[in-house]
Amino acid sequence: MTYKTKYSVLENSKYMISHIKRADKSAISLAVFYAFPSVMATLMSTLLLKTLIGILENGADLTKIIQAVGVFVLFSSIFTVAKNYLETRHSVISTKYRLYCQTHIIEKNMRIPYEKIESRENRKLLDKANEFVAYSSKGANATVTILRELAVNLVGVFSVCAVFFAVDIRLVAILIIVGVCTFLLYSRESDNEKNYQDKNVPITKKTVYLAIGKPTEIKAAKDIRVFNISSWFSPLIDILIGERKEIIASFLKSDFKLISADAFIILLREGVTIYFLISNVLKGRISVSDFVFYFALLNAFSLWIRGICLGYQWTKAACLLCDDYRIYIEQKDEENEDSEPICKELYAPCSVEFKNVCFSYDGKTQVLKNISFKAEKGEKIALVGENGAGKTTCMKLLSGLYLTNSGEILLNGKDISLYPKQQLFSLFSAVFQNSLFLPATVAENVALSVDYDKDRMKDALKMAGLADKIKTLKHGENTLLDKELNKGGTDLSGGEMQKLFLARALYKDAPIVILDEPTSALDPIAENEIYLKFNSLTENKTSFYISHRLSSTRFCDRILFLKDGKIIESGTHDELMALKGGYFRMYEMQSYYYREQEGTL
Ligand code: ADP
Repeated sequence: MTYKTKYSVLENSKYMISHIKRADKSAISLAVFYAFPSVMATLMSTLLLKTLIGILENGADLTKIIQAVGVFVLFSSIFTVAKNYLETRHSVISTKYRLYCQTHIIEKNMRIPYEKIESRENRKLLDKANEFVAYSSKGANATVTILRELAVNLVGVFSVCAVFFAVDIRLVAILIIVGVCTFLLYSRESDNEKNYQDKNVPITKKTVYLAIGKPTEIKAAKDIRVFNISSWFSPLIDILIGERKEIIASFLKSDFKLISADAFIILLREGVTIYFLISNVLKGRISVSDFVFYFALLNAFSLWIRGICLGYQWTKAACLLCDDYRIYIEQKDEENEDSEPICKELYAPCSVEFKNVCFSYDGKTQVLKNISFKAEKGEKIALVGENGAGKTTCMKLLSGLYLTNSGEILLNGKDISLYPKQQLFSLFSAVFQNSLFLPATVAENVALSVDYDKDRMKDALKMAGLADKIKTLKHGENTLLDKELNKGGTDLSGGEMQKLFLARALYKDAPIVILDEPTSALDPIAENEIYLKFNSLTENKTSFYISHRLSSTRFCDRILFLKDGKIIESGTHDELMALKGGYFRMYEMQSYYYREQEGTL
């Protein structure tokens, strides 16, 4: 089976070499320097053997034997020390190169459009790119080793050919022919390897998720015990192990054929060369010590030729992984990144207008259908409706994370696609569901920077209703979050974390505020208090609130009630209640539910 790659082996090899050089300038010269002591260290024992037999043939002079062994020990030590020293330096380069690639992936993740980041295709591509960085025996880490060993093997093979050239040119011809056959045989192996990897990667991912990921997560420990999920994990892992066994078996089957063919070639080469050497001894052209020397050289040659074949095979496998890595790295970045700001007065309050906006995530199912509304500067809009109605999607489009399929979104009358992405993002103070926190201090998590205005940060914590809790922590706002990663760190509850995200939105102080169910972990009273506070704090800001509790959005200037991707009702709370439509029914149902709850308390 042949795999199509975007770049050829040669192109990918050049790419890897140029990147290795960028990660460390001395990488190539070190590989070449390493080849000489390495080849000499292998040849030393062969040379000693030849010298000792030569001395024995000429009368076994003890002084000469001691001298020969002394010289051997001295040079062997020098070559071995040089080899080990260069090998250690070179292995540092492997790590540097791997980290160089990893950094590129991380940077790329931050630059590619958000809509791509969420897509399944992108996640698959990212897994493959990560494979190049993480797969130690074939990926980036191994590429530097392959390069070094290739230099050793090439220098070794050329040295042996040079020695045999002096004995019999036909021997060199035989060695080259056999070398080419072995090479061709091994070059088939990398396709086999890629096939194995492609089948194995998704299984490894699932196994790691089930065996190492979920069961060891502290958050999952409660559910695993209470619902006894451990008995559910084991059969799934068994199925995955079974699938992996099948893949390994088919890989080994084709590998066995290769090993058998290789053994046959070795047999042929040894038979023919030994025949040539013996006939030269019989004709008196070479001595017995020479015969032993050449015979031992054959073994070294066999080792180095095999090394070249494996090196090429590994290079091909590394190139296949590198191809995936390059495809990921060379994707287009976020557009408009470096453009000049278009509209300077954007930092004044912004008006927002959706004009016939349609959107689909997968190109098939319409999630938003002809959405049109206008939020005047400083207006507070609530988006309400059942789960899946399209509220969050509206906000993702507004903040530029996704592009509309048709229709326009205007900020101060200008289409958002005209604004540079970074400028656009700077206009929003957003709290989405599942916002990100970093294992840094509380203060840094609020400011999202290590340099921050302390007073503003403290005010933001106070306004979000978190200041009292933070005061109880040993190091106050300098307490590190995430107990697992930080010794002496702390974990906040779901509700406290949501207050932290609200503080972050207040600290950013951007002209447009988006709160997407930021208080779902709070009780209705605490939620109501926070929303009212937010209302006064965001007076001049255009704000959008999404909440499944309709009572907490009553303070908004206007409420948009969404159903199946359409705005079906729009107006103030009182207007929508008077309509007695979908909003009214939902509100009544929730009020009834809360009244029921109060009754049972
Ligand atoms: P709401 O915020 O009103 O609960 P959403 O805007 O989150 O609704 O989702 C609207 C629809 O879009 C739902 O059917 C949801 O399953 C789908 N959806 C949301 N995010 C994605 C996504 N990243 N990829 C594909 N479909 C999505």
